[in-house]
This record gives sequence, structure tokens and C-alpha cells, in this order.
Amino acid sequence: MKYCSECGESVERGVPPGDNRERHICPACGTIHYHNPRIIAGCLPVYGDRVLLCRRAIEPRLGYWTLPAGFMENGESTEDAARRETLEEACTEVEIHSLYTLTSIMHVNQVQMIYLAKMPSPDYGPSEESLEVALFSEEEIPWDELAFETIRNVLRLYFEDRKQQKFPLRHVEIDNNRFNTARVHD
Ligand code: ZN
Repeated sequence: MKYCSECGESVERGVPPGDNRERHICPACGTIHYHNPRIIAGCLPVYGDRVLLCRRAIEPRLGYWTLPAGFMENGESTEDAARRETLEEACTEVEIHSLYTLTSIMHVNQVQMIYLAKMPSPDYGPSEESLEVALFSEEEIPWDELAFETIRNVLRLYFEDRKQQKFPLRHVEIDNNRFNTARVHD
């Protein structure tokens, strides 16, 4: 950040009184600019024994498959955001079942929340953000063409948990791209 979003002056770095971290502070209007993690909400849409994936029409990872998910907007709940992203990216209306994975992606300052969701009908289609949308059985998942490690992990957990038909909330932590050291606990 270079300029104050309140008044346009150049910002400085410093630790505000009572704080313990460096922030961007505006010397002109006094505004302290906090930068905090952003939330990505999305769905794992399920129809029968298949899951819905979208092939990305936008960077990053254009052409690779992912679950419908995106940044929350102000004024919506995480469930609203997950449903909206699924409608926007996959043109399908889902019924949210439960929160399934909560992933802290520390090196990019993001928190990803993926909900298990039921598709009442197999109606879906491509969109501005998806070149292609399709249902996949476990055997058909394009594991080598997935866009993100976080999504690979969600799918891996899902097919494991499906054997028991139990889907506990999974907490995942990823730090500094060392995904293999991610902590996954029930
Ligand atoms: Zn200012």
C-alpha cells in the first residue's frame, strides 16, 4: 500500500500505540490501514455418486479443474457466498448440507471454507468463469488437472469420508506452500 485510501496521502509504516505489528498509517488523516486474511467460500456439489467440477476460464490456473468458490462479498453470509459462487461459476442451484473443510492458507493470507452441497437436479452449465462444468465419479476425477492443492485435498478427504458416509468438519492448515505438512484432524 502506497497511498491512503481515505485521503490520498502517502502512508508510512509503523506500530500504532497498543498494537504489536507494523501497519500502514496515514500521517495526514491518522487512518490505520489493517490488512487481514480474506475468506474464500465455495461448495463441493454432489449429485448421486458424482461431484461437480468447473474448468477455469480465468487466471490463475486457466484450463484447470476446481470446485466453485470465490471471495466473499461484504454483506453476505459464508453460505450465501458459497451458493452465489456456485450459481455464478457452474449455473447450478445447490442445497447446502454442512461446512466440510476450513483451510487456513497462511502464506497467501486466505481462509477457504468449502461446504458440502446437494444438487437437487443435474442442471448446470458453463459460465463467464468456467469453460466447462461436469459431474465426475471418483474414478473420473482429473487428479492431474486440478487447479489447486487445497481443492485436491478437499476431494481426497471427501472420497475417504464417503466410505463411512460421515463428513466431519476438517481443519486444514497450509503454511509456506509446504502442503504435505498440513495438519488434518477430525
Ligand atoms: Zn489519510
